[in-house]
Amino acid sequence: MKYFVFGALVIVGIGIWWLNAAGQFSFRDSHNDEMEFIDDADTTRSVITEPTDYPEASTSVTYLPPIPEPTNPDGRTRWAAYWEPMNAEEYAVYGPTTRPAGPPRVGIQAGHWQRENLPNELSGLTGSSGATAGGYTETEVNLAVAEEVVKLLTNAGIEVTLLPVTVPIDYLADAFISIHADGNTDTSISGFKIAPPRTDYSGKAQRLVDAMYPTYEQATGLKRDEAFTRRMSGYYAFNWRRYDHAVHPQTPSAIVEMGFLTNASDRTLMTTQPALIAEGIANGIINYLTAEGLLTTE
Ligand SMILES: [Zn+2]
Repeated sequence: MKYFVFGALVIVGIGIWWLNAAGQFSFRDSHNDEMEFIDDADTTRSVITEPTDYPEASTSVTYLPPIPEPTNPDGRTRWAAYWEPMNAEEYAVYGPTTRPAGPPRVGIQAGHWQRENLPNELSGLTGSSGATAGGYTETEVNLAVAEEVVKLLTNAGIEVTLLPVTVPIDYLADAFISIHADGNTDTSISGFKIAPPRTDYSGKAQRLVDAMYPTYEQATGLKRDEAFTRRMSGYYAFNWRRYDHAVHPQTPSAIVEMGFLTNASDRTLMTTQPALIAEGIANGIINYLTAEGLLTTE
């Protein structure tokens, strides 16, 4: 009987070893002390597809408050209207503007920063603390990088504003960049991504994004994560129709997910080398502004 129990235990042990080695299951997740909490805002990993009747736009952003949505004359909600082209009336107000003379103006937003001072319309973001992992909060990581970006851009002769979660009403600038760090329950997922607003009324956001990818890649050595989330392209600060505190539709905008706070190697890079991450972001912005003829290198 003794030998039988022993033999059974050995067989079970070998079985567990085999399953683990074969990747059938892993004990890693249940013993992960680093991952304390992950914001669901950053874990929705879906590839962007064309919405049929805009269901994703209203359902994926679950943290938004149930604010009353005034309807347009055609019965569409303001949220749905976010994706639509401007009508003539809006165009008169929000159409292309002549930029004021002077140095280029850029807004750098530290994601989730100062969410304790939200206006009523953004009160639903109070609980949106971002990813937390390895003893770091996304807010502190975002802020450290954002501050470095501000320094680099200022040194390049750009007029920079460091912005919290609350964007000034109809924020107009030559570029708006929101800085975030991603999170996922799968700690092996790593990489960065940069997205323009889903509907870019400035016509320049894609060029801004395209200018940032190579400089970010070069500075950080991180790989591109192609799993864009709807929360990126549908970022609340891009939604000028729904919120007063949003970018002006003529502001070329982009949102950066610098890497995964839940991935040990991404996290080490972001927390120990914020200046390097910032260089990747700032150089892209500088290249973009130069290409647009807004910044002349002496
Ligand atoms: Zn975030």
